[in-house]
Amino acid sequence: MNFENKTAVVTGGSRGIGLAIASKLAKGGANIAILYVGDESEGLKAKEELLQYGTKVEQYFCDVSDFDASKQVIDKVIDEFGGIDILVNNAGITRDKLVLNMDEKDFDAVINVNLKGTFNMIKHTYKHFMKKRYGRIVSTSSIIGIIGNAGQANYAASKAGIIALTKSVAKELAGRGVTANAVAPGYIGTDMTNVLSDKVKDAMKAQIPAKRIGTPEDVADVVAFLCSDDAAYVTGEVIRVDGGLAM
Ligand code: NAP
Repeated sequence: MNFENKTAVVTGGSRGIGLAIASKLAKGGANIAILYVGDESEGLKAKEELLQYGTKVEQYFCDVSDFDASKQVIDKVIDEFGGIDILVNNAGITRDKLVLNMDEKDFDAVINVNLKGTFNMIKHTYKHFMKKRYGRIVSTSSIIGIIGNAGQANYAASKAGIIALTKSVAKELAGRGVTANAVAPGYIGTDMTNVLSDKVKDAMKAQIPAKRIGTPEDVADVVAFLCSDDAAYVTGEVIRVDGGLAM
């Protein structure tokens, strides 16, 4: 896939699914701005890895749940890269508990990063894409946002919200050459799922029709398609990447 002369912002791009997406886009020739919030050395490691593809790569500290900080970073990226063509909203967290034990902080934290963070990034790139009459917005939902899950009410609500947000933005921007789509991964092997016990992992794997856990690259391949010019007539879509789990 060809992303030459395109600039992509990937939130949570320093590891897991985000890094796989950033790698796939960089391999296709895209300049990459990765946004991270954790360890700076992780961000630097990711930057080094991405630089092998020979495009411009920068890392920016940015808590996507912070409206003003997100705006500052997006403005900086536009200034330093000369514009943005692709926005990948990938940053996400979990705070799993039954609602019985879930406190307000657990609910707010997940909604603020996953859903409000996605809104913040879309809000701050919206006018830029409108003026350009071009843009690709791809946000990472989850099959949990479609089917729900006991112990993940906050996460499920945030990921369902991303789907509704995506479809609304798709309708607002379709006439301007800007697409907005979402991917809904199933069970993907990353830091987020590595914390689960082997028992839970085996039980989940047994339910997947494809009989294997997904890889970050499985998700990146679909995201890259949605970011490409080949997907110009695809908008408001949600593509499951789950080995058939939520069929
Ligand atoms: P991960 O390895 O835990 O990575 C999460 C990423 O989100 C990290 O890069 C992290 O940044 C970033 N992040 C967290 N809070 C942030 C904040 N406030 N501001 C900016 N960045 C923030 O998880 P993953 O599995 O790759 O997940 C990526 C996305 O896929 C998430 O939205 C997740 O919900 C979704 N997803 C994952 C699965 C799965 O099975 N793994 C399934 C469905 C959906 P740092 O590296 O700087 O900490």
